[in-house]
Amino acid sequence: MRILFYAAKRYDQESFTDIIGKFPGIEIEYTDHELGPRSATLAEGFDAVCAFVSANVDARTITSLAKHGVKAILMRSAGYNNVDVEKAKELGIVVKIVPKYSPESVAELAISLALAANRRLCKSYIRIRENNFDIDGLCGVNLAGKTAGIIGTGKIGAAMCRICFGFGMRVIAYDINKNPSLERYLKYVSLNELLEKSDLISLHCPLTDKNYHMINSDAIKKMKDGVILVNTSRGGLIDTGDLIKGIRAGKFHGVGLDVYEEETDFIYGDHSNEILPNPATSKLLDYPNVVMTSHQGFYTKEALGAIAETTLRNARDVEKGIRTDNDVA
Ligand code: NAD
Repeated sequence: MRILFYAAKRYDQESFTDIIGKFPGIEIEYTDHELGPRSATLAEGFDAVCAFVSANVDARTITSLAKHGVKAILMRSAGYNNVDVEKAKELGIVVKIVPKYSPESVAELAISLALAANRRLCKSYIRIRENNFDIDGLCGVNLAGKTAGIIGTGKIGAAMCRICFGFGMRVIAYDINKNPSLERYLKYVSLNELLEKSDLISLHCPLTDKNYHMINSDAIKKMKDGVILVNTSRGGLIDTGDLIKGIRAGKFHGVGLDVYEEETDFIYGDHSNEILPNPATSKLLDYPNVVMTSHQGFYTKEALGAIAETTLRNARDVEKGIRTDNDVA
């Protein structure tokens, strides 16, 4: 099987090269190009493509892949909201994902963002670099004894619940499917109750048509003043305009974002010499209580190794015509 690996970074090539020997018969060619409607033509002659969260796998891309003989899309991610699954089904293209690689990698980034925003670590670092040892304005709050509200208690949300519990927090959660095995760490409540009672709110549900902009002005109004909000799931869960209004109104003690709405246009690229078309990201960074990272929740050695292993297993399953729980189309 020949796979065209889109948007390949050095770290991707290293983690896949480390284990490709365990999968005889699978060949990978790497390209810097991102998968989208135009670059799909590059996949002519390949059996499968491998893509990430930054790809645009819409109906046009999938139609072009099918036209060029591609039989499978191997997503090296858990989320697949960027894939038109219905179109893939219609054209008989298999789509496999990596549903679980290292939930702790994302949960540990979520708590890092909460702590960094809470204790103004980025501001503090910049001050110290400039020999400014003044701590005025950097005052945080203790997390111990406070309430953590976790939205989505799947693999990553569950890891986040355990971390918050370990911090001595009371953990409440909202999920459309409850997980009874977590009830020793948390209490399930309604979304409204979670919004009203939490001192820290962390989002861990997938982005779907139903929960797009679930954190909007109405939801923000219900939150406690001084809440810390963290999003490591998908940017579309939060209405950025409403978030900015909330920040400007002084609602949040801290905001930590690994994902944001317009990230797809420039994620994982170096655009430091450009004026970005959408000002929302730089606007968010104007605020001293906001900390942002570049969709790097998955970026630990353990997670990269597990992603490579599962993606190559998925490729082998495609070759053998085996359907598994990793199939979304
Ligand atoms: P999961 O499927 O194990 O868990 C998702 C949970 O969300 C499930 O329990 C589900 O019932 C719940 N859910 C679905 N819709 C909901 C809603 N409207 N309200 C409340 N709960 C809802 O997924 P996971 O592995 O824990 O991953 C969660 C999300 O994290 C992914 O969908 C992805 O968007 C994101 N993610 C981000 C990174 C990163 O690098 N930042 C990496 C991996 C995953």
